[in-house]
Amino acid sequence: MTNIHSSAAEMAAALSKNETTSVELTKLHLDQISKVDGKVHAFLHVDTEGALAQAAEVDAKRASGEQISPLAGVPLALKDVLTQKGIPTTAGSKILEGWRPPYDSTVVSKLKAAGVVILGKTNMDEFAMGSSTENSAYGTTQNPWDLSRIPGGSGGGSAAALASFQAPLAIGSDTGGSIRQPAALTGTVGVKPTYGGVSRYGVIAYSSSLDQIGPCARTVLDTALLHEVIAGHDERDSTSINAPVPQVVAAAKKLDVKGMKIGVIKELNGAGFQAGVIERFNESLDLLVANGAEIVEVSCPNFEYALAAYYLIAPSEASSNLARFDSMRYGLRVGDDGKRGAEEVMSITREAGFGKEVKRRIILGTYALSSGYYDAFYGSAQKVRTLVKQDFDAAFQMADVLVSPVTPTTAFKIGEKSDDPVAMYLSDIATIPVNMAGIGGMSLPCGLAAEDGLPVGFQIMSPVMQDDRMYRVGATLEAALVSKWGKPILANVPDLGGK
Ligand code: GLN
Repeated sequence: MTNIHSSAAEMAAALSKNETTSVELTKLHLDQISKVDGKVHAFLHVDTEGALAQAAEVDAKRASGEQISPLAGVPLALKDVLTQKGIPTTAGSKILEGWRPPYDSTVVSKLKAAGVVILGKTNMDEFAMGSSTENSAYGTTQNPWDLSRIPGGSGGGSAAALASFQAPLAIGSDTGGSIRQPAALTGTVGVKPTYGGVSRYGVIAYSSSLDQIGPCARTVLDTALLHEVIAGHDERDSTSINAPVPQVVAAAKKLDVKGMKIGVIKELNGAGFQAGVIERFNESLDLLVANGAEIVEVSCPNFEYALAAYYLIAPSEASSNLARFDSMRYGLRVGDDGKRGAEEVMSITREAGFGKEVKRRIILGTYALSSGYYDAFYGSAQKVRTLVKQDFDAAFQMADVLVSPVTPTTAFKIGEKSDDPVAMYLSDIATIPVNMAGIGGMSLPCGLAAEDGLPVGFQIMSPVMQDDRMYRVGATLEAALVSKWGKPILANVPDLGGK
């Protein structure tokens, strides 16, 4: 029997055997949302009517014998950073309150074409700036493992929806870790594909040279299935790669790592990391060895500068991208009393509509780009980016994939770091280099830390457009871990009243 605890692949199989219908599955999930989301706050908007209509359409197509895609009829939660025609889209910001996009992002078009049922939009840090979802203008999301803790960010809503069985699939965006970090802290799987592998058309831009959309789910195979639905070249995104989509579903089914070389990044495996995180990480390395992989140590000396460089590049691009929120074109307008000039209305609106962290980054980015400082800050940061990429290139000469823990710690308490931006930024120390180099990165759960019983994430990185490698290693490790535990990690998540 499929239920909300099943994987997306299991739900898809039950649908294809007519053991259930998409309407039935969608209702089960809407029901779970109404039972638990008051506690979790994963969703900003639930599209009950739209989801049921989409589900009914898929059921009708199936009944008529029409060829439909593998995930047709399976529900999904969409990060509120993607446009969906007619559906409120805020990117977690007050400045976009009430905005209903007139068009679908490419990812949403692909989901709709594949018959994936979109349940609603998930909570996130404002404009994807943050590591805890506490920067959302609409209140924080709670971690289903412990409601007093953050679910990670910026895509905490999507990850929390998966971990509380409100959806089996979700979409995230990852500029410096926003898919992988919440996945790690909630015991779910999240993948940042190669930059350019998934279209950014219709994504509300944060830092365009780093932003990447990717799949989130509770198993590696489910992320692979979703990856193949959303990936591929798009003429409407000038940075989209025109090459065949890596065969990630086949890779996720291989369950074999014999002879593969796994590179452990020396700089991301020790100082500054919680003991329980390192312990679980090392155990997973042993399992990979037991499955025939070879471990090699690699060094990436320039990673030391990656975080600092990221916090110049990302705010610089953000300061330019966010200029479009000027009160004239979208959403909020404050102070337009008929007497004030346009510039004054813009400035009053931006003051009222942007949160503290967004303002901090706009100021930082504008400063870093201003003449006289450009070379010293932005220019140097770009040089670091090249060095980080060179470190990866050298490391991939020695290994097929690279690995590290995803986050230095398990989920921290709500409020613990909200007044200390630098402490918050450090949550992404292990995920940021991947975005700087444009390569692929996956987070999968590798156990619970001994000291607090909270999930730990294992990161796998693969070279540009070789995303299949991380799926192959991830699925093999997942199978080994689940067989060792005797049950999936999420069997341990507290019952929030929906089971
Ligand atoms: N936490 C990082 C930031 O605040 C990364 C966010 C993201 O990947 N969108 O910029």
